[in-house]
Amino acid sequence: MKIAIIGSGMAGLACAARLTKAGLAPTVFDKGRGIGGRMATRRADGGFQFDHGAQVIPCDSDGFRALMDDAKAAGHVAEWDTGEGKTRVVGSPGMTALAKYVAQGLDLRQGTEITALTQTTEGWDLTANEALGTFDRVICTAPAPQAAKLAGHALTDPLGAVTYAPSLTLMVALHTALDVPVTQTNPTDALAWIAHDSAKPGRPTQNCWVAQASTDWSIAHLELSKDEIAARMLDLFLTHHGLDATEVAYAAAHRWRYALVDTPLGQPFVTSADKTLYAGGDWCLGPRVEHAWQSGTAIADDILSAA
Ligand SMILES: Cc1cc2nc3c(=O)[nH]c(=O)nc-3n(C[C@H](O)[C@H](O)[C@H](O)COP(=O)(O)OP(=O)(O)OC[C@H]3O[C@@H](n4cnc5c(N)ncnc54)[C@H](O)[C@@H]3O)c2cc1C
Repeated sequence: MKIAIIGSGMAGLACAARLTKAGLAPTVFDKGRGIGGRMATRRADGGFQFDHGAQVIPCDSDGFRALMDDAKAAGHVAEWDTGEGKTRVVGSPGMTALAKYVAQGLDLRQGTEITALTQTTEGWDLTANEALGTFDRVICTAPAPQAAKLAGHALTDPLGAVTYAPSLTLMVALHTALDVPVTQTNPTDALAWIAHDSAKPGRPTQNCWVAQASTDWSIAHLELSKDEIAARMLDLFLTHHGLDATEVAYAAAHRWRYALVDTPLGQPFVTSADKTLYAGGDWCLGPRVEHAWQSGTAIADDILSAA
């Protein structure tokens, strides 16, 4: 069976890994250069490194815990003592480490944006900037609005009910140390989260910080240019810490239009009536990496149970 998976975030990788383990050989296509989707790590000149997407990896279910235990034993995730009286779990040396661990041995085609999905009598034709061939099964794990654009007409359930909160994110490196907690939740009305990224296990010894704007602030400033977002968020960050701009070694912003799922679909995936096209991702079950993993795994199990 020829299988294409769109998206190398946790949902797509989990699906591909499960299918591969069962002896199938799916191909994973992603428009991005790196794998992991919103579980993202950016490296910048100067040796700076930032987790600008998912910050930590909570785990509530047995299946996901088994993966996390294996990844931890293999050194790809680690516990982070944030001084809050509990430890959190992060990818190590960056959040993409967990994605890379799950992706081992998979057929990955990065830098390939799927622009059209067409059903023929032979199967599904995939198009990027060239024809990619015909597939018996296609699994789309793009965020729901993008999946709906690509595949919505053929799916049995409405993806339109799913809603997301955006997140504007600042990455900043400082010249000198800051004497504040390594995580700050809702430190101001405009900032929802600040983390000392370099304090996470396995990171380079730089002084890198990530700040996420609140949902209201993100919505209000979503369409500004990235430079303008960086300038305004840097001002918020510096004012909050009583710093001036001479302290800044690096600053950049990222716009996550579909960051955190507000209203999930409430079921692990959607499929076409003939079960040849699937769509899934975190948006099916909730706002976390674990939900993406659950969705991708459920799609693979459904395909395998019918094979
Ligand atoms: C700022 C932020 C903070 C977060 N914090 C946390 C946290 O602390 N803990 C937590 O558990 N979760 C957190 N999350 C949520 C978590 O990152 C997501 O739930 C999870 O990574 C989603 O995985 P996914 O595979 O469903 O989707 P994604 O990771 O979005 O993967 C989808 C992939 O599809 C690709 N794609 C889309 N369209 C196409 C196309 N046409 N062709 C080819 N490829 C395509 C994209 O490039 C992407 O790689 C956070 C997210 C953000 C943005």
